[in-house]
Amino acid sequence: MVMEIGMDTTDSGQRVENNMVTQILVQSSGIGQASGTATTSIPRSHNNVMSHHNFVSSSQISSHDDTVEYGRLIVLGTNGCLPGGDRGRRKSCFTLRRRSLANGVKPSDKHQVVERASHSEEFSSKEHHSVSYTLPRTVVVVPYVRDSKTDMFQIGRSTENPIDFVVMDILPGATIPSNDTKHAQPQQSTISRFSCRIVCDRDPPYSARIYAAGFDTSMNIILGEKAPKWQDKTNRMDGLTTNGILLMKPNKSDGWRETSVGGGAYNLRESRSAQVPGAKVEDCDNVLEDGTLIDLCGATLLWRSSSTLKLMPTQRHIDQIIKDINLERPQCPVGLTTLAFPTRSRANKPTEKQPWVYLACGHIHGWIDWGWRGEERMCPLCRSVGKYVPLWMGNEPAFYKDHGPPTHCFVPCGHVCSEATAKYWAQTPLPHGTQAFNAACPFCATEIEGTPGYVKLIWQQPLDG
Ligand SMILES: [Zn+2]
Ligand SMILES: [Zn+2]
Repeated sequence: MVMEIGMDTTDSGQRVENNMVTQILVQSSGIGQASGTATTSIPRSHNNVMSHHNFVSSSQISSHDDTVEYGRLIVLGTNGCLPGGDRGRRKSCFTLRRRSLANGVKPSDKHQVVERASHSEEFSSKEHHSVSYTLPRTVVVVPYVRDSKTDMFQIGRSTENPIDFVVMDILPGATIPSNDTKHAQPQQSTISRFSCRIVCDRDPPYSARIYAAGFDTSMNIILGEKAPKWQDKTNRMDGLTTNGILLMKPNKSDGWRETSVGGGAYNLRESRSAQVPGAKVEDCDNVLEDGTLIDLCGATLLWRSSSTLKLMPTQRHIDQIIKDINLERPQCPVGLTTLAFPTRSRANKPTEKQPWVYLACGHIHGWIDWGWRGEERMCPLCRSVGKYVPLWMGNEPAFYKDHGPPTHCFVPCGHVCSEATAKYWAQTPLPHGTQAFNAACPFCATEIEGTPGYVKLIWQQPLDG
């Protein structure tokens, strides 16, 4: 029997507890300069390389309907494509564009209390979206209705049709060409098959909002008995998914929050999949802003708004940076060989000319088999002891914070980017496992070591230059 009743008569024992406030401490590392002992000599052209090129990118927005771009999602720990290569809907970057026909849905103001979800017509119908909240003895089914003003995009691990952007777990270091983890997949995924959905307004300013959970092939979202769920002040049902969808807006001082199935913002639970939800955060919404981070538990996504895409460097600019560095013919101060970054298409294994860096001081050399100190190495120029790794260019433009020259690299992975980019990511805590937060290199997801977590690079110019 299907019975429609007012929400205030449903189970009220599931209300939000307000005492679980998990505080995330934003890592406040000192931004000291790396301790270089020699004068910095960055090849001359690097300082203004970005200004040589115009920034009209292919992503510019035109007024034609089919080219309206809402924004992009980029998987952290990828460097231009997935470690094993992009395949169909499984890729490192997903562009959200206005659809030819609106496919958004919104909750209706009705709901049904039934014994089993299958007793609900909306739940059983393949034509209707619905969200079911499983309570101890009953199920509350909230039918969703079409919304001609919005487009919906779904994200998750499932490769089934309702998922627009298929996201798998990211293994730290998999994008580093000298690592062998390129094709490895974690044995057990923590990303939900129907993880979350983003609903974009089809009219300017094209606001994009994120909600936990996605509709499955039967157009249903089912919150099981163990998922936290409650009735809010306006008598609407809401809930969280098992591992949750966490959100951090670009103003990091607010830290990470959790977004609910209904789009509310909540403080973090005591642990990732705890059954007690965090307290509601009233002054925080689920609108994605440029730079918002979305954590799916196993992979983190970066949102770049379409309005700011033209401020980002493009891959062409990064190719030009590589070209300009190579034109300066930087040298290994010991071997006196000329160093060069491989071009993007060839950056799949270390080359003979690969620049290497001593992470303790930032001195760049070619590969030299010298100065072993246990696992670490001593720099022949300044005798600093630390890790010695090949340098790789950060190729994913979306992770750059500015158009600054590529003067720094992350410790310990050796990904090269601008100073502002290095500083930003070294101070951004990302969810790691179920309770920890770590800063990580955005290009390979390797956990950042030490303070500040990056080093200024010191190049040697050719002596005959
Ligand atoms: Zn040195
Ligand atoms: Zn890296």
